Amino acid sequence: MKMAKIKICPKCKESKLKTALNVSGWLAPNMYKCTNCGYMGYFYIEIDTEDLNMHKNDLKENNNK
Ligand SMILES: [Zn+2]
Repeated sequence: MKMAKIKICPKCKESKLKTALNVSGWLAPNMYKCTNCGYMGYFYIEIDTEDLNMHKNDLKENNNK
């Protein structure tokens, strides 16, 4: 069974994260930008692709804290 890890946006929970560029145009390897909601930062959620839908539901339920 193939298990792939993906990074998802902590804000909108979509797998739209790309490695961000800093203001000088250099790669910022630890920083990510979400092309869906515009989130940019160092924090991301890494999950197995097969768990994506399950985690999405969990995260949405816990979103009101
Ligand atoms: Zn996002």
